[in-house]
Amino acid sequence: MSRMQAPVILLKEGTDSSQGVPQIISNINACQAIADAVRTTLGPRGMDKLMVDDQGRCVISNDGATILKTLDIVHPAAKTLVDIAKSQDAEVGDGTTSVTLIAGELLKEMKPFIEDGVHPQIIIRAVRKAASLAVEKIKNIAVPIKKGNPKEMKELLLKCASTALSSKLVAASKDFFAAMVVDAVMMLDDLLPLNMIGIKKVTGGALEDSVLVAGVAFKKTFSYAGFEMQPKTYTKPKIAMLNIELELKAERENAEVRVDNVEEYQSIVDAEWKILYDKLDKIHHSGAKVVLSKLPIGDVATQYFADRDMFCAGRVPEEDLRRTMKACGGSIQTTSQSLTPDVLGTCETFEEVQLGGERFNMFKGCPQAKTCTIILRGGAEQFMEETERSLHDAIMIVRRAIKNDSVVAGGGAVETELSYHLREHSHTIAGKEQLLISAYAKALEVIPRQLCDNAGFDATNILNKLRQRHAQGGRWFGVNILKEDISDNLEDCVWEPAVVKINALTAASEATCLILSVDETIKNPRSGQGDQPGAGRGRGRPM
Ligand code: ADP
Ligand code: MG
Repeated sequence: MSRMQAPVILLKEGTDSSQGVPQIISNINACQAIADAVRTTLGPRGMDKLMVDDQGRCVISNDGATILKTLDIVHPAAKTLVDIAKSQDAEVGDGTTSVTLIAGELLKEMKPFIEDGVHPQIIIRAVRKAASLAVEKIKNIAVPIKKGNPKEMKELLLKCASTALSSKLVAASKDFFAAMVVDAVMMLDDLLPLNMIGIKKVTGGALEDSVLVAGVAFKKTFSYAGFEMQPKTYTKPKIAMLNIELELKAERENAEVRVDNVEEYQSIVDAEWKILYDKLDKIHHSGAKVVLSKLPIGDVATQYFADRDMFCAGRVPEEDLRRTMKACGGSIQTTSQSLTPDVLGTCETFEEVQLGGERFNMFKGCPQAKTCTIILRGGAEQFMEETERSLHDAIMIVRRAIKNDSVVAGGGAVETELSYHLREHSHTIAGKEQLLISAYAKALEVIPRQLCDNAGFDATNILNKLRQRHAQGGRWFGVNILKEDISDNLEDCVWEPAVVKINALTAASEATCLILSVDETIKNPRSGQGDQPGAGRGRGRPM
């Protein structure tokens, strides 16, 4: 009989598993720490973070997703928040800080219920219900954008872009960049593909020296001797885009040929030259004046092209080659056999120009110009990187505004309105659900509260005014950073696309439900090591 009572051993010795309420609470606490990490970056008066990784590289950012990605987060539950910030970034490109904060706050509000023994599934159901009520409310109150009038439309896009930029490091030049971003997006075709806007950074010069090129521009690639003799400007050139190596193989160290005598060696060399010259002749006879290749173009080929007044660039990054193709027409060839006129692209002008310390290849007046390039100028590398991220946010906002047709007021206005709406709604239901829904409503106030805190305003005072205003039907009242007070943010043009808010609320609620539904973490002693809190530091693990 006693044998039957022997413990059942399921897991290897040393496996760490914790379960039940303490596990949920500990996960909630971890998520709170994440929310705290990005808290102060929210809004136009948000602070930036400087992160230094173990190789000493530093990144300055105000963008929630970037900060969370850069932090080396090892806690398994906390990683969920990083994932939602990333998904918000990927789907709508803005609102990453907000989504993290809302998720953190929702968890904080739900924590007492868990501690009091309310079953997580009941909380999850209420969170889902509140989220769907909120989303429905946003859809109801969002203000449609009039698309009929192109001039009005453009003005509206400018406002959206400058709102997105007003919380960034480049806020001082927000009008300049808002105009650039709107022009850039307007150059795209109807699908507004993001990868058709190239952003290139050139150190040096002032921020406002940045330019938008209607076409493709990329940094001059590595080139061999002979390149200097090639012309640097062409009008209406034919452009060959290749994925062909134009280099003698023997030049490359990895070529290994075994030969027994000199004649044999000579014949190999001759054959190689012949193959190369064959390719070059075909390219030359196609009529192409500008030759771009994804693969290297060696010195022999460079000299060959120079002798024939042609321009060449090897090792062009794939993405740039694709954009050139989209803008100039033609197609990328993998052999030199069929360089017929239809596979060659063309443009009004091609030139190589000097910008700061770099030379750029620029293709302007492209017949199919559904692509453009922003060339950013500025001092420090980190600063330009952050500018690029800010422009990305603004570009996403403008795209969203074109694609979607409604906006809501920002500055905590929409969150306060939702909070008010949910609170009102909760009065109509009984039981635990009422408490849970009003807890959700309270959590939404984190956005206006944090905006106040970050700007140094008295949050309690402002929030009281806001609640009062919304109760009186002032739907779009929110925090106004400039006036240090509340104001109608729809009138004051603090706008955000409705879809950014919808996505943020849905994602934050889903993350909350996910974390509340996990009540056990089992860590295998060996394979799980990297996931143990504190185990990752100083080990030089990749981020
Ligand atoms: P996120 O990563 O969530 O986009 P941001 O730092 O960009 O974070 O801050 C966005 C928040 O700041 C939004 O709630 C937005 O409405 C608010 N906001 C932006 N501009 C203003 C402004 N001029 N006044 C008040 N709030 C603003
Ligand atoms: Mg933003």
